[in-house]
Amino acid sequence: MNKIEELYYTDLDKLTSAAAEVCGRYFGSSVYLRGLIEFSNHCSMDCHYCGIRKSNYRAARYRMDEEEILSVIRCWHEQGLRTFVLQSGEDPLISVTRLCRLAEKIKNITGEKSALTLSCGIFTKKQFKELKNAGCDRYLMRFETSDERLYSRIRNGLKLKDRVNALYDLREAGIETGSGFMTGLPGETDETRIGNIKLCKKLELNMIGLGPFIPHPHTPLAYVSQESIDHAIRCLAIIRILMPGANIPATTATGSLDPSGREKMLSAGANVLMPNITPDKYKKDYLLYPGKICLNEPGSECIDSITMRMASTGKKLDWSRGDSLSWSQLNEQ
Ligand code: SAH
Ligand code: SF4
Repeated sequence: MNKIEELYYTDLDKLTSAAAEVCGRYFGSSVYLRGLIEFSNHCSMDCHYCGIRKSNYRAARYRMDEEEILSVIRCWHEQGLRTFVLQSGEDPLISVTRLCRLAEKIKNITGEKSALTLSCGIFTKKQFKELKNAGCDRYLMRFETSDERLYSRIRNGLKLKDRVNALYDLREAGIETGSGFMTGLPGETDETRIGNIKLCKKLELNMIGLGPFIPHPHTPLAYVSQESIDHAIRCLAIIRILMPGANIPATTATGSLDPSGREKMLSAGANVLMPNITPDKYKKDYLLYPGKICLNEPGSECIDSITMRMASTGKKLDWSRGDSLSWSQLNEQ
């Protein structure tokens, strides 16, 4: 057995304590905060797992305009947030030129001490470079699963290698690179999950987001039975041990499936939380999966409840920009 396999078959409690110890050594008790704005749920893709896929005609679509996005950023920048994550579907009306203009305006408001993360689907290397030049510091694009056949099946024939190549393009463009996967996809096995962990390591990711797949009733994968969050917790703990300096969020999907899911992730090596600061009138329609938490509370209440929950884990919120250690070290060399 190699090291990853050995870790994979270790008792879960032992594994999470080891991961928590590594996390504490690298990040102390700090948990970085990122403000998440889901600015458009239009999508030209038809991923079988996702509630805002093109073919879900029941989804009520919205697109925030530039001024709306900037006013959310102004407000939260004044309150001290130093990382903003802008996420959307692959919206055909949001061109790279438009995203670049938005990034420039955001940087004018927030300055260099804040980081801008985008997560809007796949682009070419040239486009990623344009985004970098306009002020995009980080990019999130999950590979979803390391199983090529499964990937193609749930992403309508797309190829895993194209996604992986785009992740290398991001790095070459000088962008802090984030990816990750879902656990509990249909047909997934222990080997698939071990493969997912290996791919994170091979890509030397700076940020790794993972969480349970939650079947959405209006998608082709509605029939899949729900797995518990245990696979996600196990994978997270192993990734923390193998990639100690990476930024790893306690994900909303985990908190949506289990009321203490995010705390469990923080106790298993996660060091990032992403409160949802999308305006209330829109966030209820960004439904990638059912049962999503924080839909009925404004961003401020979301942060208050996170702060209270933090107390139970012995962690404290850190409002700084919080680059991944792997990235800062890489750029010092
Ligand atoms: N359109 C962009 C970003 C939005 S989707 C993209 O696809 O990259 C963000 C992430 O939500 C996806 O990468 C996927 O891992 C997750 N997601 C989508 N549907 C989900 C579901 N049913 N359960 C859990 N996570 C889901
Ligand atoms: Fe679109 Fe992303 Fe959902 Fe796929 S996962 S349908 S690309 S929003």
